[in-house]
Amino acid sequence: MSATILDGKKLAESVRAEVRTGVDVFVKEHGRPPGLEVVLVGENPASQIYTRNKEKAAKEVGIRGKLHVLADDTTETELLALLGRLNADPAVDGILVQLPLPKQIREQRVLDAIDPAKDVDGFHPVNAGLLASGRPSLVPCTPRGSMKLIALAGGSLDGARAVVVGRSNIVGKPMAQLLLAANATVTMAHSRTTDLASVCREADVLVVAVGKAELVRGDWIKPGAVVIDVGMNRIDMPGAIPGDTLKTKLVGDVAFEEAKERASAITPVPGGVGPMTIACLLENTLLAARARMTPKRGH
Ligand code: NDP
Repeated sequence: MSATILDGKKLAESVRAEVRTGVDVFVKEHGRPPGLEVVLVGENPASQIYTRNKEKAAKEVGIRGKLHVLADDTTETELLALLGRLNADPAVDGILVQLPLPKQIREQRVLDAIDPAKDVDGFHPVNAGLLASGRPSLVPCTPRGSMKLIALAGGSLDGARAVVVGRSNIVGKPMAQLLLAANATVTMAHSRTTDLASVCREADVLVVAVGKAELVRGDWIKPGAVVIDVGMNRIDMPGAIPGDTLKTKLVGDVAFEEAKERASAITPVPGGVGPMTIACLLENTLLAARARMTPKRGH
């Protein structure tokens, strides 16, 4: 049996088209587009590509995207001052600070400083807390996109056994919360888990977000499972000289060729979770903009 390939690129296109329609309606109602401000500190090459892609994707759906590029030696105080201005600006609906940050800046201080109503990455403790208490508001983009890919695979999550490998605040933990909210029986695995292969073999739905190339082998997959591979690892092609970027390729945390012979559905890398993350960022920006413009009702 060869698995159905869950095409994240195609699904992301349909999410973007829906966002574009929603943005048009928003502009008619409010006389301005939703605004997304992306903040990049330093010169991390991967972050430069991610932030440019996010700004470009925003503009393509009619969101007013703005990229702030700050020097590598920016202080925490300077970054917090910028966030203060963006929090106070009524035309700004979404704020995203690209991680990782240079070492002189405390990541948690920065994430905590973003107005939760504009926290389109969903990393603020208020949004994490709302998700954990079953009242999701702005949900982290990668888990949100992964849930849509699971839905694309079809089948019910009700009572399904789900295993999430990786327990980061940005992927693993929110992913587990979403699966739990969808009535799956959820196991979280991490670097201290013993006999990870056996844990994975129990999964009807397996989500892997570790950052270790092809860690999960084909015989770790339960026959018929849905496999979501979040990992993005750049490895040298066979025979390449280390450091030669032209001879590298992107692989996931799952050994794709082996796993697709056992899974019923699987995401490729690239072209699976990655495009969905950006599409869900646009969706979150529209949701944040709508929520900010909707008068709050008293209790
Ligand atoms: P983190 O480094 O924050 O977390 C990695 C997690 O994997 C940790 O919980 C760690 O456990 C666990 N882990 C590490 N080694 C093992 C192991 N041998 N066995 C089991 N668990 C292990 O990473 P992120 O969550 O930020 O990202 C994970 C991957 O997903 C990366 O490849 C990243 O590039 C990718 N990613 C992709 C996105 C996309 O859009 N496609 C978006 C975000 C991330 P412990 O807690 O015990 O240390």
